[in-house]
Amino acid sequence: MHDIQPQQIKHRADWQLELADAITSASELLHQLGLDHLDEAVSRASGFPMLVPRAFVSKMQKGNADDPLLKQILPVALEHDPRGYTDPLGELNAMTAPGLLHKYQRRVLLLTTGACAVHCRYCFRRHFPYANARPRRSAWQQAVEYLSRHADIDEVILSGGDPLVLDNERLGQLFAALEPVPHLKWLRIHTRLPVVLPSRIDDELTASLSALRFRTMVVIHANHANELATAEADALRRLATRGITLLNQSVLLRGVNDSAAALTALSKRLYENAVLPYYLHMLDPVQGAMHFEVPQQRAVRILNEMKAALPGYLVPRLVREVEGEASKTAIFTI
Ligand SMILES: *Cc1c(COP(=O)(O)O)cnc(C)c1O
Ligand code: SF4
Repeated sequence: MHDIQPQQIKHRADWQLELADAITSASELLHQLGLDHLDEAVSRASGFPMLVPRAFVSKMQKGNADDPLLKQILPVALEHDPRGYTDPLGELNAMTAPGLLHKYQRRVLLLTTGACAVHCRYCFRRHFPYANARPRRSAWQQAVEYLSRHADIDEVILSGGDPLVLDNERLGQLFAALEPVPHLKWLRIHTRLPVVLPSRIDDELTASLSALRFRTMVVIHANHANELATAEADALRRLATRGITLLNQSVLLRGVNDSAAALTALSKRLYENAVLPYYLHMLDPVQGAMHFEVPQQRAVRILNEMKAALPGYLVPRLVREVEGEASKTAIFTI
């Protein structure tokens, strides 16, 4: 197959234009929010540059230096804290084919791209050498060959980076490679785009997802109720009406969502948008993000308060990822 340069020839979709227009300058962002005085606290030395779509910024509160959305994406001097690891989950050792992580029984995680639409400062993949790990088209073929040889695998999880940063044509090629593998039954997509760039959930995408023979699930990533406003609600409805199961995973983040009130509000907002909470992750000990850490004792207390305030189906599972374990490790709450 010949490689064309899609940007040069093809019409770019609205979401691609929005992504190209994402904010990468902290000064511009802070000026827009009326927070110019914070400019000096910003870190510009990071190897993980700031990146945030304007759709996400529009949900931040002007003049609020502690805005829970702003805190997730603004690089600050605290990132120079030397504690933590660069590959806290040992993922580089777990790779069985290029970009393929087969750590757990029955399911594999495919790193489809290194790119994201937003750079979350707490991300455990901020140090990841994607250039080596990410499958290009030929590597997808290797991943599919691996899947074909392992008849016990019935679920493939598209992850990244963010798989929905790929355009519909590239995704279509991937789906076309996966669909003929007879033992694959379920497709799961881990993506933050319905939350940070809801225009990505366009008709072509929802149509192609619902045309697949797979039972399909989309696991979104929202940490705070303010992340879900009208445009996001519409995007989620477009997925839900196509019969796609929607779950959410969050990371427990100091200063962002580390209270029962914040997480209870998030669970309710998710449910109102057809999404159920799935995992609440303890922060992975990643270098540059340790200032987001919430002690386990506090996490357990918050979870128990949530259990008292919510029906069981709106309480996420509090988990930590431990290298070498057969699944995510549940943290004991009442
Ligand atoms: C989290 C994770 C999964 C999915 O685990 P579930 O408990 O099924 O959600 C699969 N593979 C890897 C490598 C993971 O990190
Ligand atoms: S969208 Fe996900 S993978 Fe991308 S930076 Fe945020 S947490 Fe990391």
